[in-house]
Amino acid sequence: GLSIGIVGLPNVGKSTLFNALTKAQNAESANYPFCTIEPNKAVVPVPDPRLDKLSELVHPQRVLHATVDFIDIAGLVKGASRGEGLGNKFLANIREADAILHVVRCFENDDVVHVDGSVDPIRDIEVIEAELVMADTQTLENRLDRMRKQLKGDKKLQAKVDCCAALLEHMSAIRPASSFPGRDNDACRELMRELQLITDKNIIYCCNVDDDALVDDNEFVTRVREYAAQSGSGVVKINARMEEELVGMEDEEYREFLESYGVSESGLDLIIRSGYATLGLISYFTAGVKEVRAWTIHEGDTAPKAAGVIHTDFERGFIRAEVIGYDDYVANGTEAACRAKGVLRVEGKEYVVHDGDVMHFLFNV
Ligand code: GDP
Repeated sequence: GLSIGIVGLPNVGKSTLFNALTKAQNAESANYPFCTIEPNKAVVPVPDPRLDKLSELVHPQRVLHATVDFIDIAGLVKGASRGEGLGNKFLANIREADAILHVVRCFENDDVVHVDGSVDPIRDIEVIEAELVMADTQTLENRLDRMRKQLKGDKKLQAKVDCCAALLEHMSAIRPASSFPGRDNDACRELMRELQLITDKNIIYCCNVDDDALVDDNEFVTRVREYAAQSGSGVVKINARMEEELVGMEDEEYREFLESYGVSESGLDLIIRSGYATLGLISYFTAGVKEVRAWTIHEGDTAPKAAGVIHTDFERGFIRAEVIGYDDYVANGTEAACRAKGVLRVEGKEYVVHDGDVMHFLFNV
């Protein structure tokens, strides 16, 4: 599934947001016994009204939403990558993430001290991003040293060495790996895939605002949006304190609460939705009497690849898939009705799965 690492300066609202995510996890944890609970990770169900509709039709024993792992990545402050350097645990945590949620303080409150004395989201973003560039630079320097030693015995490494050096040069001007123009060759692509550089990941800027700025942007949010637009990064706006209050509310109370703030969607839902969009993720469903379940795949994935998300055996032994489009399923109500109507399709290895497809896989063991 999708994993999102949360970074940001101290006192911007990371813990408040992470507490809300952990509450959302705990509220649902009974349904996800296979998810290990870790202190710095929150496994949160992906809201999907289509899944609810399917379970109304199928009446399964259980309904399982897709999940997103949120990882609290502590330890980023100004100067963190100098001196002792960023710890191995930090690097391991952040490498695991598919995308970075960068929480930015966009609220004023004299009671909450800002580490640099004033609220200035762009300065804050630049501080964190410079630290991440430094962390990647360390990674690249270590790798370059190692490759140079191996070069004598393996001349094929030269192209990777060249790429590594060019990338270091690019980043020495405090630029992220994602904007490196020289990546368009096989050696470079391979190196960057191996290294999983932090500044090569997709970023979503998460503006933490007070209630009054939830509907109309304040000047801080406006600035973050302008900054994010330069790199084509996503922006979401949340009120972390409100998110904490929201978790655990029942349907009607929940809706009324959101309405009272003038919004139609919770910040957690917004973050998850924008994570899917940023990474080009979609969902397909399996629908049986035992379990109705959503699975996360990449746009463009073929049927065997999608099957592999359930189990690697499904991908290896893939024979064919029975597929019903979501709208067809809902229009006809049952799998049998879909079959009778001729809207259940049999698809092979080349089939590209659509968002919302209801799938049944046939495979060899
Ligand atoms: P962290 O250091 O980034 O984890 O920040 P915290 O989550 O601990 O938040 C720092 C302080 O800011 C806490 O006292 C929070 O209650 C407060 N805070 C968090 N979000 C908001 C917000 O949206 N508005 C206001 N006014 N205070 C907030």
